[in-house]
Amino acid sequence: MISSNVMPFPGLAERVREVRQRIDDAAVRGGHGQTVRIIAVTKTYGPDAVSAAVEAGVEDIGENRIHEALGKMDATSVAVRWHLIGHLQRNKAKAAPRFDVVHSLDSMTLAAALNRVGQANGRRIIVFAQVNVAGERTKGGFTLVEMPAIADQLAGLEALEVRGVMTIAPMNADDAALRGVFQGAQAAARLFRTAGHPATELSMGMSNDFEVAVEEGATYVRLGTVLFGARPL
Ligand SMILES: *Cc1c(COP(=O)(O)O)cnc(C)c1O
Repeated sequence: MISSNVMPFPGLAERVREVRQRIDDAAVRGGHGQTVRIIAVTKTYGPDAVSAAVEAGVEDIGENRIHEALGKMDATSVAVRWHLIGHLQRNKAKAAPRFDVVHSLDSMTLAAALNRVGQANGRRIIVFAQVNVAGERTKGGFTLVEMPAIADQLAGLEALEVRGVMTIAPMNADDAALRGVFQGAQAAARLFRTAGHPATELSMGMSNDFEVAVEEGATYVRLGTVLFGARPL
């Protein structure tokens, strides 16, 4: 019988420590000298995953769906930074100010909508531009080819602040392909900086590829299953 005061996610603090060590080792191997933050991806888990993450020392929380995220925000009393890591529909852009960062800026129509929301709220919305390096049809994001034009257009949207770039690597990519994707994201961020954006962050790396991402310069890794175990379906 399970007693009611058992901590949810037993062993989480230990897994966070192990993952941090792996990140530190990867950062040394990569030689970029960056600081890496862990985003605990709590999607499909209940609000108790958020407090468990905080207790384990992770205060950046990632969610990929607005409705689920807002529910968890309302159910969470501890202070965390909320990251929206999934596609944001234009008609839900109003929710953006509740997140510290929107990682999934993937179209100019969404950018325009977020810019209006920022103006209406009197503050800038912090976004990462999602780049679809491998050009996968199943994924959102800008291609590298269109990035220079996008960087220029985004520079005209004053209520948006492009702090970095986000990418999702293809599943089952081999090491060389993975590195190609992460280096592509790195190149996109450089391009944004050249266009005058403060794009210093690189959100890349998930449970199965975060060490390679860190070796290639990731500053945020988005980790779900490696921390919390297999997601409930
Ligand atoms: C679910 C998700 C993650 C975390 O995936 P894991 O493989 O469980 O670490 C990271 N990024 C995005 C965009 C996701 O949707």
